[in-house]
Amino acid sequence: MNRIAVLTSGGDSPGMNAAIRAVARTCMFNDIECVGVMRGYEGLIEGDYKVLDRAAVGGIIHRGGTVLKTARSDRFRTEEGRLAALEKMRSEGIDGLVVIGGDGSFHGAKALHDLGFPVIGIPGTIDNDITGTDETIGFDTAVNTALEAIMRLRDTASSHDRLFIVEVMGRNAGFLALETAVASGAEYAVVPELPLSIGNLCKLLRNSYAEHKSHTLIILAEGVMSAHEMREKLQDTGGYDARVTVLGYIQRGGHPTSFDVVLATRMGAFATESLLIGKSGMMVGNINHKLVLSPLERAWSEHKSLSPELLSLVNKMN
Ligand code: ATP
Repeated sequence: MNRIAVLTSGGDSPGMNAAIRAVARTCMFNDIECVGVMRGYEGLIEGDYKVLDRAAVGGIIHRGGTVLKTARSDRFRTEEGRLAALEKMRSEGIDGLVVIGGDGSFHGAKALHDLGFPVIGIPGTIDNDITGTDETIGFDTAVNTALEAIMRLRDTASSHDRLFIVEVMGRNAGFLALETAVASGAEYAVVPELPLSIGNLCKLLRNSYAEHKSHTLIILAEGVMSAHEMREKLQDTGGYDARVTVLGYIQRGGHPTSFDVVLATRMGAFATESLLIGKSGMMVGNINHKLVLSPLERAWSEHKSLSPELLSLVNKMN
């Protein structure tokens, strides 16, 4: 291989820039050229590339977002769009592609692999909802961002005997909500993976209030319902004054934690080296602190479960 391309696709996540840098620097280390594709699969179709030399990836390691920008591309969902992208890459002498994104982006990567083009995926999403890796790039940062906001809410909550319902992101999965609940010492985590009984929750709130707990925190995953809806449904909060906070997009921004930068750097180097030794149609994962490859389709065909240990911890600690 002489020329490798890298793109970011789907939602951005903190640490994507560190992964881009690692791909570019690993190419340099191996005396090959790296090009960055702007705006995900849209840029791949249009041939919107820029050479990523040493300077182009300098000073980006700790920046949030993605310097390559990201986009959703409907054209790439069509065979015509994918063939156009392939044609562009071949005419530019590109021999392999690294795709950084979520499971949707991996569908696109798999389609290119099926057309005979070498592709490796790197899981980048704050949702952590991808099978084949313990953590996705950006998840740790998003948990820490949520934690920082919640610590501020805790101060005001305990001063007023308040119940705070904090809605966090995570799409249809509860990883972000569960990890945030354990880290913030929340009383309850409400996640899409478990059935919710509003009656039981009201009972628990009444007990908490009767035990003179000065405040109570519910971490709610957006995939269950909105925090405003939950407040409407909680007719009886046992005595607490209920307040709602939706953390929203602040969870996606900000500079990545050291954990995410190290993970992204390891994954970027490993993905590039995997392409160079002829691997394709695979994604990089971090399992028990070790980097591994698994087929891209695992990302959407196998369900990733929440940790039963963390689930039971929320109940034990409340
Ligand atoms: P996030 O988890 O942050 O939403 P994602 O990678 O899952 O990230 P998507 O919007 O689902 O984000 O997918 C990103 C892009 O991948 C799409 O805009 C589309 O171009 C491409 N893509 C998704 N699914 C397919 C598919 N089945 N075939 C080809 N390309 C696809």
